[in-house]
Amino acid sequence: MKEMILLKLGEMVLKGLNRRSFEDKLQANIHRRLHPFGQFRVYTRQSTTYVEPKEDSCDVIAAYEALQKVFGIVGISLARPCEKDKDAILATAKEFLDDQLRTAKTFKVETKRADKSFPMTSIQLSQYVGGELHEAYENLEVDVHHPELVVHVEVRDFAAYVHAQAVPGAGGLPVGINGRAVSLLSGGIDSPVSSWMIAKRGIALEMVHFFSYPYTSPEAKEKVIELARLLTPYTGHLTVHVVPFTAIQEELRRSCPEELFTVIMRRFMMRIAQAVANRCGAKALVTGECLGQVASQTMEAMMVTGAVVDLPILRPCVGMDKEEIVQIARKIGTFETSILPYEDCCTVFTPRHPRLRPMLSEVEKAECALDVDGMVQAAVEGIERIHV
Ligand code: ATP
Ligand code: MG
Repeated sequence: MKEMILLKLGEMVLKGLNRRSFEDKLQANIHRRLHPFGQFRVYTRQSTTYVEPKEDSCDVIAAYEALQKVFGIVGISLARPCEKDKDAILATAKEFLDDQLRTAKTFKVETKRADKSFPMTSIQLSQYVGGELHEAYENLEVDVHHPELVVHVEVRDFAAYVHAQAVPGAGGLPVGINGRAVSLLSGGIDSPVSSWMIAKRGIALEMVHFFSYPYTSPEAKEKVIELARLLTPYTGHLTVHVVPFTAIQEELRRSCPEELFTVIMRRFMMRIAQAVANRCGAKALVTGECLGQVASQTMEAMMVTGAVVDLPILRPCVGMDKEEIVQIARKIGTFETSILPYEDCCTVFTPRHPRLRPMLSEVEKAECALDVDGMVQAAVEGIERIHV
């Protein structure tokens, strides 16, 4: 018999919201994520989800690792099955958890019994296995309140299972349970983190990237695609909408006051992102903006930027220090790619003295000279969609 995986579900259980649809969504996400590793049976009983390999060729260890990146799960443990017999259970515990049993100072055994026909009660089985382990390992003392190691035993319908403490899951809510948003993905450190934070709250993402060829290189675009790819273990499949942005930037450089260039450019980004959102049923925009980080990220600039769209703009990094953002970027594995040295379109034609506190009226006046709708439409029509 192959090992199986036990998942402890997150907030959805506590929330009592629409628990059933949360579980269904999570199960669908789990199935999709495990697809490359073989066929698994996935079912939920009493806030534990069981992931059982259906065939010998299943890669259970790869599945165990992949599941650590699925939102909606708070704890994951690998369990070894054995015959439903007290000595088989004891032998499995000794073999499967030997390293941990050797190093822990205190432990206890906790038994769950789904099969009520098993001849011992949960307490009797815990006492038997615990007593034998205590004798076998000289280093171990029993501590029922704060044990270093908990040996879990589950007696289920077709087998018994032994597992140790769970490793932490990704937390959050199953992706897709809370709708869809469009995330503006640059090649920087912040926007992959902001995307991840919003996906974590159960939101499916569409990615938009503004690309200014030939001012930014094909490598810069590849880097963004790679960042999106690095997010997919968490978000599931992503589409990156690559927007041709060169014509707009050149037009703005020709006809806008230099100190307003950045804020007007960002208004175009928002308009285009909203057009993408409307097409794919997304209900919010996401950016990696952070208060005070650069000239375009003052409250005034955010107000002027946001004024062109109706959708809410989610900025999960808004109150974070760079170091905190970097920490998450490292944890989710995007940092090393983010710091590759390619230009972003925001660094093309950067004004020498960008206006820190732009006024809406002056910005609107500067835009009067532009065919805003035509420029947005042309950019949207030129979008290239890349699936990762
Ligand atoms: P990041 O590390 O995410 O690049 P940043 O500090 O460099 O952030 P800006 O370049 O001012 O900040 O961009 C702020 C936000 O605007 C980004 O987090 C991203 O959401 C969006 N953005 C900037 N440039 C692009 C782009 N080329 N394509 C898509 N979105 C972008
Ligand atoms: Mg950037």
